[in-house]
Parts: sequence; structure tokens; C-alpha cells
Amino acid sequence: MSDVLDRGAVEIARAVAARETSALDLTEAALARAHQRDGAVGAYLAITDEVAREHARRVDARLAQGARLPLAGVPVAIKDNMCLAGTRTTAGSKMLGNWVAPYTATAVQRLLDAGAIPIGKANLDEFAMGSSCENSALGVTRNPWDLARVPGGSSGGSVAAVASGTATFALGSDTGGSIREPAAFCGVVGFKPTYGRVSRYGLIAFASSLDQIGPIAKSVEDAALVYETIAGVDAADATTVARPVETARGALRDDLAGVRVGIVREFDLAHLDPEVRAVYEQAYRDLEKLGAELVEVALPTADYGVATYYLIAPAECSSNLARFDGMRYGLRVEAADVGATYEATRAAGFGDEVKRRILIGTYALSSGYYDAYYVRAQKARTLIALDFRTAFERCDVIACPAASSPAFEFNAKSDPVSMYLMDYYTIPMSLAGLPSLSVPCGYVTPEGGRTPLPLGLELTTPLFAEAALLGIAHAYEVGTRHAQKQAPPALEAAR
Ligand code: GLN
Repeated sequence: MSDVLDRGAVEIARAVAARETSALDLTEAALARAHQRDGAVGAYLAITDEVAREHARRVDARLAQGARLPLAGVPVAIKDNMCLAGTRTTAGSKMLGNWVAPYTATAVQRLLDAGAIPIGKANLDEFAMGSSCENSALGVTRNPWDLARVPGGSSGGSVAAVASGTATFALGSDTGGSIREPAAFCGVVGFKPTYGRVSRYGLIAFASSLDQIGPIAKSVEDAALVYETIAGVDAADATTVARPVETARGALRDDLAGVRVGIVREFDLAHLDPEVRAVYEQAYRDLEKLGAELVEVALPTADYGVATYYLIAPAECSSNLARFDGMRYGLRVEAADVGATYEATRAAGFGDEVKRRILIGTYALSSGYYDAYYVRAQKARTLIALDFRTAFERCDVIACPAASSPAFEFNAKSDPVSMYLMDYYTIPMSLAGLPSLSVPCGYVTPEGGRTPLPLGLELTTPLFAEAALLGIAHAYEVGTRHAQKQAPPALEAAR
């Protein structure tokens, strides 16, 4: 059974549909593996044994009736800011530490309808605010490549679950990089579709003009299958776009002939550590070897991305998180009167980073500062999007690092700005709403380091060009096979 679990989503679904194994037997094996392996990694806030079994039984029954289920029996980890009816959905916060979701997020429901089995709810930075998973109020997640290092964030539990083999794929959410940066840190594929492609219904909101759900998987092909399953218009989310979802798997290709790859002039690799730089230079050469033509493109305003994001995202967060007042959801700390109850609840329920964002956002939106900060940030956002549009007149896809370094050690980024800068390469794409993914592109062994650590290549295409993006990423992946060259030691030890 263990060998079936080590396969990709496409093959597992095929094996279960062919009745090589029942979904229930496979689920039992997946749960046993998750309980056995997750102690060291801590990917999950909860392993949802009973819910998983219930869905597995349902999948077996539906298969017996002749249903065709593209994700039959495939174990999935769900980031714990997505609702799964009847399970605790905490957003990594004490505020929702005991909150049980009364309904299921659309993206999650589409996976369940396709036969996927929810193995557990994955850890995250509180309300998805962070780049290391260290802001979770409810648990520590370690990087399976080196347990002394962070998995990245905010979808740290989701990537760690896939990297340690306890889930075949996972759902993450990405507001400014939270799928792509952790995917790079853990050596897996992380894909953020175009804003509006995947319903946010049932995703606990952080910054609603940026939040997007996407797949985290062991291969681009698996990511494409999951993307096709979850994407598309949803009446429950008015920002979803009624535009047909092309079959991304049909667009998977093996070479890059005729593809123009944009290399961003402003993203000077000379800023990077020499070893890291060498990996990216090699990645660009590999793209060329596969038939692509490299062209230089300019993103002159991308450098303002982080500053722009850290006004817009906190502004939206301060508004979205106003609902956690002790009256409607989750934690309530009783005090003398209503006002005091609000204050006591919010003081006890939110962690430091969330409070910092609420303060920054409330300030940026306050009368007298609104024009100076929030409105200017919106103008900068438009300029960044326009830069991309101009760049895409000269290229089909933009390639750059997903992060400036491999995974770092716990407590290495003690000041907030150094943490914010981890998303330097992912935030501009988020502000522009573009589809963007990270695919493994090599390894570095840090000085004094015990093990090689993975790096990710970020690829980005124009709005709604998901199929082209996945096709290009697949060609790079099969042409280089980096993910096959190394395996996380935590996983080796468990074998
Ligand atoms: N690291 C960024 C932040 O802290 C992005 C988080 C995300 O994409 N959810 O806001």
C-alpha cells in the first residue's frame, strides 16, 4: 500500500478507480502514515481520521455505482483557513482555536466531489500572515529537509505535508506568496492561479483583493489536475470569473520551442548568495536548452511591490478581521461591558503579527492618511500591473527566483521587515493578479548545513494563461527532473 501512496495524484486515482485498492484501505494506510510521520514535522493541526474514513467509504460506494472520479481516493491536506464542515477550522489563531466550520469551502467541496480524501487540516501562519509558519498560534511546523528550519509560509503545513509524503497534494492560499515561497522551501510545486479563477467562498479572508486558493503538489501534472478540479465560476464568490477553464493537462508539453522567457532586468541575481545565484543561472540556461528564447524585460515598479503590498494587505486585513469581536465567531473573553469584551477578546485572541497588521491597516485607512497611503498604494498597484502588461508584449512567461534564499532557521528573521522581504519576488505578481507558480530548480547546501535545501523557480504568465503556464512548467520539470534528484531526509528516515 505504501508504494501506492508514494505515487502522484493522477496514478493514485487511476489505481483506486481500477480497484487495485479500495479508497478505504488506502485511506487507512495514509492515516497510519500521517500519524507515524507527522510527529517530527508537525504539518497538521488536526488529522481528520473519521472524516477521511467517511469520505473514503463514500468514494468506494460511488465507484461501485460506476462514478468517474478524477481524484478517487487521493489523500489531500487542507490549509486550516479553509472550511471543511464539521472540522475545526482555526486559521492558526487562538481566536478560532475551537471554531467548527458549519459549511465547506467551494474549492474543498470540488475536491471531495472528485473523490479526494481529506487527511488533515494543515498548519499556517495566523490568518495566513507570515512567510515561515512561525506566526501560527497553534503549532510548530518543521521543514522536512532540515527539521531545524522553517517550511516557509504561510502555507507551511500544506507544503510540509506534501514534502513528507503524508498527503499526495494540498490546498494552500496565496495572498502575496504564501503558496509559492513555501513550495520553494520544501521542494514541491506550488501554483497560484489568476485572481478570480478559484472561488474564495469558505476561505477565511485575509486581504480579499489578493487572496487566492491553489494546489501544492509533487508534480506540475498533479497541480494541473487539481487546478482543473477547483477552478471556475462560483455563484457564492462574486469575484470568480465566468471564463471557461481550459484543460491544463492537455497543454502539458515536453519542450519549450518557440517560448519566449522574460528575464527581469531589475531582479539582479548579483544580490543573491553566489551558490543560490548559480542555481538560478543554471535554471535560465536549462530553459534555453529546452528550446526557449531568453529575452530581457523590465519591471521598473516591481521594486515598490513590498511597500505597496504592506499597505493594501493590512488595510484589507484590518477591515476583514473586524468581525472577530467575541460576539459572532470563536473566542470570547467576557469583560465589564460590550466595548471591554471586544477589547479583551481581540487582545487575547490575536497574535503580535496580526495586531501589527491591523494597526498598520487601520492607520493607512484613517481619515487624513487614506490619500497619502492607501490611495497611493492603489496607484502603485496599477503601475505594477501595467509593467507586467508591457513586459508580456515581449515574452510569454517570466522566470525569476521564487525566493532569495533557501529555507532559513527558526527565529532567524526577528524584525518584521526582513520577513516581509521574503516575498520580494512573489508580491508583484500577486498585486497584478497573475497566475504564478514555483517549481523545484535545484539545491544548495548552506555553510555548516547538514543537508541540501531545495530552491524554486518562479514562472508567471499573463492573466488567465494558466494552461500555458502549466505547460511551460511541465516542460521545465521533465527536462530537469530536480525533484527526483534528492529526497527530504525526514522522509528517507521514515522509510
Ligand atoms: N508573507 C506574506 C504576508 O505575510 C504573504 C502571505 C500570504 O500570501 N498569505 O502577508
